[in-house]
Amino acid sequence: MTSATDKNASTVDAIVVGAGFAGLYMTHRLRGLGLSVRTIEAGSGVGGTWYWNRYPGARCDTESMQYSFSFSPELQQEWHWPEKFSAQPDILKYANHVADRFDLRRNITFNTLVTSAVYDEGDDRWAIRTNTGEDIRARFCIMATGCLSNARVPDFKGLSDFKGTTYHTGHWPHEGVDFTGKRVAVIGTGSSGIQSIPEIAKQAAHVTVFQRTPNYSIPARNHPMTPDHEQLWKSDYDARREMQRQSRTGIVNNLNDVSAMAVSDADRQNQYTSRWATGGTTFMASFNDLVTNKESNDTAAEFVRQRIAELVRDPDVAARLTPRDYPIGTKRICADTHYFETFNRDNVTLVDIREAPIEELVTGGIVAGGKTYNVDSIVFATGFDALTGALLKVDIKGRGGESLRVKWEAGPRAYLGLATAGFPNLFMITGPGSPSVLSNMIVSIEQHVDWLTDCIGHMRARQLHVIEPTREAEDAWVEHVNRAANRTLYPRAASWYMGANIPGKPRVFMPYIGGVGRYRQECADIAAKDYEGFRLAPSSRAGAFQAAD
Ligand code: FAD
Ligand code: NAP
Repeated sequence: MTSATDKNASTVDAIVVGAGFAGLYMTHRLRGLGLSVRTIEAGSGVGGTWYWNRYPGARCDTESMQYSFSFSPELQQEWHWPEKFSAQPDILKYANHVADRFDLRRNITFNTLVTSAVYDEGDDRWAIRTNTGEDIRARFCIMATGCLSNARVPDFKGLSDFKGTTYHTGHWPHEGVDFTGKRVAVIGTGSSGIQSIPEIAKQAAHVTVFQRTPNYSIPARNHPMTPDHEQLWKSDYDARREMQRQSRTGIVNNLNDVSAMAVSDADRQNQYTSRWATGGTTFMASFNDLVTNKESNDTAAEFVRQRIAELVRDPDVAARLTPRDYPIGTKRICADTHYFETFNRDNVTLVDIREAPIEELVTGGIVAGGKTYNVDSIVFATGFDALTGALLKVDIKGRGGESLRVKWEAGPRAYLGLATAGFPNLFMITGPGSPSVLSNMIVSIEQHVDWLTDCIGHMRARQLHVIEPTREAEDAWVEHVNRAANRTLYPRAASWYMGANIPGKPRVFMPYIGGVGRYRQECADIAAKDYEGFRLAPSSRAGAFQAAD
């Protein structure tokens, strides 16, 4: 019999890969079911995103009162967030607190990468291998590997020739970086670039920003948590959490539930002005059709363009920083603190690499548009192989040795974004085909973990040991996800949602845009109909679930 507390056990009921928020909560719930669990984490600590992304300026842009766990009433009452949008160190502190408060570390093996997972049909178990040479067998394999955890440095010519220091925002050194007196290049102007550039510019001698696509960004207007705001949430947490769960994005954002076209020009302008003044990405909740109606979207995009023109002194620089060729919100909207104003500084230069493409890296810097920019350090704020990257890094083989990499060659296929046909008892938390990155991810993580816990509990009660979606159900779900995406403006942008940031990656809109509340209901209905679309079967062996202590 395997003990739930035994980190060294080599056969367990469930293996959880990853110890970010998803892996932590999954571990907690599985242990609550009495299952033996091992959680394997590549990093040396918990927190996932907030463990790896330690770049200057890193913080959430979902309000902290909302970007936090709801599963424990005590936890959410006890915890104090210092700011409206908390900084990375505070979110990491929270992840560590959760791990300690629920005694999760005893299940976690750190500094270990899962390299392969192979389904053994004779035994109905997954055989998992790690980079430390360990083999673990588990009935369930739960991938809590993260949608934005596979950091990517583009394959620039001459990459290894550069002799200065290089950093990726998603792999920032734990000891921090002192850029004092340094000439720094930042490549990339997504959320990570937009957060880090103003902070790096305050310290470095000079910052050269290499921008391929300008981004829409809304001022965060972050501030210390006020006692009133904290109390407002804590005195009404249950109801507010329920509103989050039933909402479209997992965020209580006071959606103004009318079309931007249904109001007068003055009212529309007032709505945008007021949201801009409040700050944050809930700007996109100004009207209910900003991501579905191009005419409405144009009004929001134009409002932001006008603000950029006001914030940036040099009209040429302002023009280069102004997004024009994709609808607002169809690449992940950003929230910033003095991003556009940073380009008014004497020590900041913008290089538009659409006009002057990066040709190569050389010993002393970057060559773009025929000009050499000499720098001491390069910061790659170049993003992630999102949604599928971390999953496909593991060599996953299902029934008949089918490889997940091969199955997903033309794009990910998963039923509910939770499981994929041919790979029994393998689950993905916030996988492709679920709301995941289009939502407050902690809400989506909790929903997936709760659903899975109920599912595994259901199986155990009925002595069922194998669950797998049917190809028909999966095909229908993928079709549903595609149809939902095609009703929106999202596919019009070359975004990481579409896989467009990775050369050769199939262009498929990966997350499910149907909305958090609707998706929750769809998952609940499927469970209520005896897990419709899944095949559940008893194992060939008896007594397959192990009791845990
Ligand atoms: P992660 O936190 O990515 O954790 C996955 C873990 O799995 C990692 O620790 C990784 O090391 C580990 N892992 C992966 N593969 C393996 C393997 N093969 N073997 C062993 N371990 C493995 N979301 C929001 O909703 N609001 C925000 O404001 C927000 N801000 C963000 C800011 C940044 C800088 C980034 C990068 C993302 C942000 N996100 C935000 C998204 C964020 O990723 C999620 O909110 C959430 O933290 C994801 O948790 P997770 O546990 O699913 O994945
Ligand atoms: P990102 O949004 O993918 O941005 C990467 C940037 O690098 C883009 O500007 C991209 O340009 C550029 N780039 C990529 N490859 C390049 C190349 N070969 N040459 C030149 N430029 C290149 O990545 P990110 O900024 O790390 O953010 C990823 C996601 O993490 C966000 O969208 C968000 O979901 C989350 N995040 C959230 C926050 C927050 O505020 N809460 C902060 C950071 C991250 P193109 O646009 O042209 O591809």
